[in-house]
Amino acid sequence: MSKRDYYEVLGVSKSAEDKEIKKAYRKLAIKYHPDKNPNDSVAEEKFKEAAEAYEVLSDAQKKARYDQFGHAGMGGAAGGHGGFGGGMSMDDIFENFGDIFGGFGFGGGNGRSSGGRRVSRGSNIRIKVSLTLEEIAEGVEKKVKVTKDNVCSSCKGSGAEGSSGHSTCGTCNGSGQVTRVTNTFLGQMQTSSTCPACNGQGTVITDKCKKCNGKGVERGEAVIPINIPAGVEDGMQLQVSGQGNMGSRGGVAGDLLVVIEEKTHDYFQREGQNLHYDLFVNFADAALGTQIVVPTLKGKVKIKLEEGTQSGKLLRLRGKGLPSVNGYGTGDIIVNVNVWTPQKISSDEKKILENLRESENFKPNPGKKDKGFFERVKEYFN
Ligand SMILES: [Zn+2]
Ligand SMILES: [Zn+2]
Repeated sequence: MSKRDYYEVLGVSKSAEDKEIKKAYRKLAIKYHPDKNPNDSVAEEKFKEAAEAYEVLSDAQKKARYDQFGHAGMGGAAGGHGGFGGGMSMDDIFENFGDIFGGFGFGGGNGRSSGGRRVSRGSNIRIKVSLTLEEIAEGVEKKVKVTKDNVCSSCKGSGAEGSSGHSTCGTCNGSGQVTRVTNTFLGQMQTSSTCPACNGQGTVITDKCKKCNGKGVERGEAVIPINIPAGVEDGMQLQVSGQGNMGSRGGVAGDLLVVIEEKTHDYFQREGQNLHYDLFVNFADAALGTQIVVPTLKGKVKIKLEEGTQSGKLLRLRGKGLPSVNGYGTGDIIVNVNVWTPQKISSDEKKILENLRESENFKPNPGKKDKGFFERVKEYFN
């Protein structure tokens, strides 16, 4: 199923300001709130869809990436682990945007809205991965080693020593929530909030696990494979769901955020999907024409240098650049020809050049075709 455009989901224009985006989301979130639409899976989908759109459009960085790359830029292509495309759970939504319901009498804010016990979510981990242009051209799997909170191996996350180490919370009778009735201008409203005695867990630990001191997690190393799609750019962020720190006491894990760093290349300068290459040719080759070997990201290719080639000429190697991260098309290599003027010459060479100095053909005589470099660059990209 193809994803709907985030702006369309929220019903706002691309130029909408933060306030407008927040307002639009709040409206939808209230309309499709699970407390108002119990056991309605369509409403739940709408609720999640709106939250996902809001998560992206309310974050300047994510919004910019989405505007540029669409859904493909959101790390959904991170492969195998669900990425962003996997969507957020209801817990994530309340965890992240619970404050949007503030003052509306919904039991948002902390953990689940109704019924369930609170599930704590571990924090995200952010790492950098450095890639060569060759790796970016093909896409690559990188194994990264991270130190993070894992489920405690002794108590399996419960935080209690042995099976008798915890008991049901007396304040909330195990529900994890306390309910309060308040009068508002909309009438009587029932507000649920996280039980303060057990922090929403529903149980209290009577005998803490000695290994993790009741937290349910322990630090450890993990090697995580990350599939990086072809065409990524410096500064892009991929989201690998569920590979961050484990939440305490049987919680859920946060995400692993992978920031792409691009290594500088010996030959090429990247500009979007295109690669620029500075070619230096000797004067005789430029005047007489020849075959020249130039590098690409996948081996060398021969190109023909026409006779009478001027310095500054741009040659295009179609399709030899980088693929788009969206999977549409591939850029070019743009070869910028520089004619090399010798800096040291022998007396014999000097004689030859002295003879040529006054030759009619050696007088500069630029025609309309031989425009200035910047004009040509402008023309090239228009
Ligand atoms: Zn433990
Ligand atoms: Zn409790």
